[in-house]
Amino acid sequence: MQQRVTNRPPFGIELRFERAEVDQICVDELEKSKALPATPQPINIEGFIGKHLCKNYGYEDLPDGVLGVTAFEVSGAIKFVGVSSTLDDGSPSADHRIRSTWAHEAGHCILHPILFIRDPSNRAQALWGKGSDNITSEGRFLCRDQDFRVQGAHCGYDGRWWEWQANRCIGGFLLPKILVMKVLGPFIQTSPITGTLGLPEAARSEAESLVSEVFNVSKAVARIRLAEFFPPGSAAQLTF
Ligand SMILES: [Zn+2]
Repeated sequence: MQQRVTNRPPFGIELRFERAEVDQICVDELEKSKALPATPQPINIEGFIGKHLCKNYGYEDLPDGVLGVTAFEVSGAIKFVGVSSTLDDGSPSADHRIRSTWAHEAGHCILHPILFIRDPSNRAQALWGKGSDNITSEGRFLCRDQDFRVQGAHCGYDGRWWEWQANRCIGGFLLPKILVMKVLGPFIQTSPITGTLGLPEAARSEAESLVSEVFNVSKAVARIRLAEFFPPGSAAQLTF
């Protein structure tokens, strides 16, 4: 993780993580709490949050359009993690949306406490709380629908980089690479020349469906994750 002081609100500092670094942080946290299964299956993300990150968590009536919330103490400790009770609308996709939202909030929990530590000696704190409608003065992220769309590979550091980072944790927590690669085994081909691993384009859609089913995530989340491992249109070789 790199940290640098900026003159931009709301934090006055900016954090940067490498893609593989976020993955490693997520897997390490799952392992620490014994929430990383040995075989491919859905991660119990809600149980992981309650057991490992914050005992004070649950479903909440949140303002219109807000899907999730993470609140911090001034010490950086996690005060509360919540998901909007409106997400549970009984539709088949509700479980996927709820699981993604928990994983996103878990991302804020593990990556962002440092942003909320009030340190009077830090001049950047003067900017704290200004200029963003999804950070409240009580130290809360209010994560809206549009925040979950900040997922492109290169759009993380020209806007709400903290939301982009939390979104990276959806894949990091719900689709750990070590387990996903086990599921992808039958689809993967090894180049006879370079020895690199590749996902044939003809198999991509079927692979996305299987990953979605095995890990209980939406097809969109599976698609984004597989595109990280095997970028489409680049001979689909394993990138990290
Ligand atoms: Zn968020």
